[in-house]
Amino acid sequence: MKDRLPFIAGNWKMNLTIPEARDLASSIAAASVDLPEAELVIIPPFTSLSEVRKTISSSSVQLGAQDVFWEDQGAFTGEISAPMLKNAGCQYVVIGHSERRQYFGETDLAVNKKISAVLKHGLSPIVCVGETLQERERNETMAKVALQLRDGLAGLNGDALAKVIVAYEPIWAIGTGRTATPGQAEEVHAFIRGELSKKYGNSVAACAIILYGGSVKPSNAYILCLEKNIDGFLVGGASLEASSFIQISREAIKAYKERN
Ligand code: PEP
Repeated sequence: MKDRLPFIAGNWKMNLTIPEARDLASSIAAASVDLPEAELVIIPPFTSLSEVRKTISSSSVQLGAQDVFWEDQGAFTGEISAPMLKNAGCQYVVIGHSERRQYFGETDLAVNKKISAVLKHGLSPIVCVGETLQERERNETMAKVALQLRDGLAGLNGDALAKVIVAYEPIWAIGTGRTATPGQAEEVHAFIRGELSKKYGNSVAACAIILYGGSVKPSNAYILCLEKNIDGFLVGGASLEASSFIQISREAIKAYKERN
């Protein structure tokens, strides 16, 4: 069904000074020469975007940002807009990460406005959804994810959806070292694809990129990526080491070859 490549995005979160970011980006760019069968994206803090862009410019590695505000410009102290991110060289923007929802009160309405803003400027949103441990234990995972998709993607048509990447990130697996089993992840990924299919049709849903995130590391990347609805990863902690990010990418490539 898919001839696309596994998509591996590294979310550096609030880590690394500009020289540190340049070094990490440089190592990843150098290694990417041997990884033409994966799409690699690195997502540094805003302060390092410009330097990282220069560092990866002659490689196939792409650039993303960790957040955005929905207005293009104006009196919004501390915020960064989609045109600014585009100008800084970003192609992707993470929206609705659970840390933003949890610590900064980001709602599905805000997520929806941010998605529309980045699409308007030709960027691709990486939209994060996922349940807490309590929600999983109460069997509310699918209801939570369905609601986040419904409200987050409200108003988007099929053409817009083609540029949207969804990242399923169970909150209990983020930064905890506790990963969803391949079966748990696949169940939710298949559900997400099903929800997209109901709203946008089978062909749009079949092409949608659905990433898994939550303590992905070299040791679990292969078995997760063997699952047919897992199209790659949003990697946090393990993306701060070039060697583990690269190894995760290699494992995903290997799994994709077995799948196809
Ligand atoms: C993330 O920040 O999106 C994430 C999945 O983090 P980690 O890989 O560290 O769990």
